[in-house]
Amino acid sequence: MRFEEANRIKNLPPYLFARIEKVIAQKKEEGVDVISLGIGDPDMPTPEHIIKEAQKQVAVPENHQYPSSVGLLSYCQAVVDFYAKRFGVVLDPKTEVVSLIGSKEGIAHISWCYLNPGDIVLVPDPGYPVYSGGAILAGAEPYYMPLTLENGFLPDLAAIPEDIAQRAKMMFINYPNNPTGAVADENFYQAVVEFAKKYEILVCHDNAYSEVAYEGYQPLSFLQIPGAKEVGIEFNSVSKAYNMTGWRIGWAAGNAAVVEALGRFKTNIDSGQFQAVQYAASVGLTGSQATVAANNEIYRERRDIVVDGLNAMGWHLAKPKATFYIWAPVPKGFTSASFAEYVIEKAGVVITPGNGYGDQGEGYFRISITMPKERLVEALERMKKTIGKVEF
Ligand SMILES: *Cc1c(COP(=O)(O)O)cnc(C)c1O
Repeated sequence: MRFEEANRIKNLPPYLFARIEKVIAQKKEEGVDVISLGIGDPDMPTPEHIIKEAQKQVAVPENHQYPSSVGLLSYCQAVVDFYAKRFGVVLDPKTEVVSLIGSKEGIAHISWCYLNPGDIVLVPDPGYPVYSGGAILAGAEPYYMPLTLENGFLPDLAAIPEDIAQRAKMMFINYPNNPTGAVADENFYQAVVEFAKKYEILVCHDNAYSEVAYEGYQPLSFLQIPGAKEVGIEFNSVSKAYNMTGWRIGWAAGNAAVVEALGRFKTNIDSGQFQAVQYAASVGLTGSQATVAANNEIYRERRDIVVDGLNAMGWHLAKPKATFYIWAPVPKGFTSASFAEYVIEKAGVVITPGNGYGDQGEGYFRISITMPKERLVEALERMKKTIGKVEF
C-alpha cells in the first residue's frame, strides 16, 4: 500500500543536508576522525542549580499530571521577571506570556494562527528553516527578504515591493541572527515597528540568541521598542542561554491577542511541557546568571580561534558580536555545497553549506563553535595544512 501524502507535506522543501550527511557517514566508515562544526547545539551541560531544581520537582506527584497547555503561572511570572530585569520590559504574566515546548514549536504554529492558504509571510533569507517550513505547512507563501552583507544582514524593508507589503500578513525577524551572527540596533527595530503599523503586519521576532553575546554587548528585546507590543511578539527559550536544548521549553511574549490565539491553538494540539521542566527553566531565568557569562567567555575564546584561524588563511572576517556562529564566504571557484564537500574530503571537518538556509546563503558556509577549544584548534590546523591559502 502506498498512501498519497497531503499536499502540505509534499510541498515541504527537501532536506538540504542529506548529501553532506552521506559523505560524513562514509568518512566515518573509512575511519576518519570527523570534526563536526555543523550543528548549533551547546556542548556544555545545563548549570547545576537548574538540574537540582528539576530533580526535586520530578519527585513531586502534582507534577506527574497533565500541565496546562499555556504554562504554569509561576513559569510565566519567571519569564516576566527575566524581561523586567534583563530588558526593562513590563509584561503581564496572565495575558502576555505563553509557554512553548521549545520556541521552535511556537514559531511553527504561529503561522497556523495567522496565515490562510495563499497569504504572504515575509521571511529572512538566509534564515532558520522553521519560519518558511511552518508557513508552507499552513499553506502560506513565504516572500524571502534577502539578508546581504552590504546591509549588515538586515532585511531592506524599503526594497519590499509595495504589493507584497500590502498583501503580507506576518514577518519573521531574528537578531542576533542565525546563521549570519549579525545583530540589530534600536533604529532597525523602530523601522520594523513603523513598517508593521503601516501595512498591518504581525511581527514575530525570534530572540533565541539574546544571551549569547560577547565583550559586553547586550542584545535588545524587540519588546523594548515603543509600539512593539501593538504589532508583535517575541519568541525565546532557555535553550541557548542555559544549555537546555534537550529540555524543550520556551515562550512567546508580547501582544496579548496573539499570545491568546497561540495558546488557544496549543490547547487543541498539545498539553504543555512537563511541570518539572517549567520549574527548572524558571530557576534558570530568575537565578544567578553567572553561568551565562562564563559560557560566553568560553564561546568568545572559541570564536577568536576560528575567526583568527580563517583570517590567517586569507579570509577577512569580522568577529560576530553575538551567537555561536561564524558566517563566511566560500573561496573563489567554489559553491556552498562544493566547498563543504571539499572541506570534509580534505580536512575531515564538517561545515554547513550556506544554501541550506536559503538561496541567499549560496556562496557562504556556517561554522558552529559548539565544540571544545582543542577540537576547533585541530579543525583549523587541518584546514590550514590541507587547504592552505584561499582567494576570493
Ligand atoms: C535554536 C534556535 C531556535 C529554537 O530553539 P528552541 O530550542 O526550540 O527554543 C529558534 N530560532 C533560532 C534562530 C535558533 O537558532
